Amino acid sequence: MQATLTVLGSGTSMGVPTIGCDCAVCHSRDPRDRRTRPSILIGYNRRQVMIDSTPDFREQALRENIQQLDAVFYTHTHADHILGIDDLRPLTYLHKPGKMPLFATPAACDFMRTMFRYIFEPTYKFGGLPQVEMHPIDGTLELFGARFEPLTVIHGVTPILGFRFGSAAYLTDHSEVPEETIAKLRDLDILFLDALRYKPHPTHSTVEQSLKIVEAVQPKRTFFTHICHDLPHEETNALLPEGVKLAFDGMKLEFEI
Ligand SMILES: [Zn+2]
Ligand SMILES: [Zn+2]
Ligand SMILES: [Zn+2]
Repeated sequence: MQATLTVLGSGTSMGVPTIGCDCAVCHSRDPRDRRTRPSILIGYNRRQVMIDSTPDFREQALRENIQQLDAVFYTHTHADHILGIDDLRPLTYLHKPGKMPLFATPAACDFMRTMFRYIFEPTYKFGGLPQVEMHPIDGTLELFGARFEPLTVIHGVTPILGFRFGSAAYLTDHSEVPEETIAKLRDLDILFLDALRYKPHPTHSTVEQSLKIVEAVQPKRTFFTHICHDLPHEETNALLPEGVKLAFDGMKLEFEI
């Protein structure tokens, strides 16, 4: 079935421009150098599924005119991937039937319930709450006629999730992609990879490291995401090999799910 992938955000945890920074990328006039926190939206079968809800979710949803959201998958519980949860409110009120499902590992579900106790604690009575419920996942999930396969990636020392859905896969926040995950990335049309910058980082992949993954996996199209202000869009794209590009906020791709 045909699906659309929209890049809601392509930036690293602090976003680009970064507050207080004087660098050329943070002052660039190229809209593709404005990077909100990392998230994607997948539309298929008249449904919309999102990966991660970032602190920029409100801005992203208004920009993309999101009027419906049916589920959210979480890669991990770092602030730049979860803090938009409260801004899910208006879309959870439109959600039918019942509460909007949020999918994450069992450990991530526990973390979310503790971190956002006011949402999940039934005794909380102060103001409107997002109508959401956590669903632990420990394997491939069939959702609205498509299969979402969780894939393990290593983020520093922590195993977290990426996802494969049909001919596309989204891996953000990884410093290492284990062999068993590489093996699950065969025959991809679209691959998203973390590529923070050129300089090594303890918990994120570099452009060079991610290009090695591209060589191993050989997807048709690769897009780098979770990008910091070290990578000017146009200039970096010109240096990347054919079939590999930086993602940018608002980018839309068609694929088979
Ligand atoms: Zn992140
Ligand atoms: Zn900067
Ligand atoms: Zn992270």
